[in-house]
Amino acid sequence: MMWIDTHAHLEDPKFAQDLDEVMKRAERTGVGAILTAGVDLETSRRAVELADRYRIVWAAVGVHPSEAGKATPEALTEVRELAGREKVVAIGEVGLDFYRDHTPRELQLKVFREQARMAEELDLPLVVHTRGAIRDALEVIREFRGVRGVLHCFPGGPEEAREAIELGWYIGVGGALTFPRSRLSDMVAVLPLSHFLLETDSPFLAPVPHRGQRNEPAYISLVGAEIAHIKGLPTQEVARCTTENARNLFESSPISP
Ligand SMILES: [Zn+2]
Repeated sequence: MMWIDTHAHLEDPKFAQDLDEVMKRAERTGVGAILTAGVDLETSRRAVELADRYRIVWAAVGVHPSEAGKATPEALTEVRELAGREKVVAIGEVGLDFYRDHTPRELQLKVFREQARMAEELDLPLVVHTRGAIRDALEVIREFRGVRGVLHCFPGGPEEAREAIELGWYIGVGGALTFPRSRLSDMVAVLPLSHFLLETDSPFLAPVPHRGQRNEPAYISLVGAEIAHIKGLPTQEVARCTTENARNLFESSPISP
């Protein structure tokens, strides 16, 4: 059984001490690929370094909406250069965060569109973060019809998810699904497995029974098992299908062991 963790932040300082061990545990639990995502120029560089260092790690490069103030023309030029590196398979993490609202909305929208255009020009998928802004994010996605991607840590309901799926996008599901009374379980119950990607968002949002602790890619199977439970499917089927989904989206580079 093989899992793909389509969203992690291995460059986070919380992994500085023991990343080799974290990677060993991931491989032992059947994780065949991990997509680690930068949130600004510095972490994007680091994501590419980690992808070069570890066989099963692939990188996404981009500027997160909360860091949109750092997205100078020079920074975006370097992101574009990094995107040409061998193991970079997506532009991300980009998007809109109107919940935290550190950064003016207009600036977030501008930086999101700039990076969506970059993804279009480079023919790479987008890894999108959206919080308190799902409608606005879907609107931007509609403007770039040639671009596919994943709405990571999906914050909407079944209706918004259906809209994203109709646009050819994927829904990223992580540890929050395992929390009691998660709204996500309704969505997972009614939508087809063919449009879900699994993610941990490590080091954040650890699934039950690790909730509150540091998350790591080895826990991805707990998310998969929860989906299997909700949909009444064998866990193997969830692993097989979500792995295939990840390969479909990130096919421009073979995200595979
Ligand atoms: Zn993230």
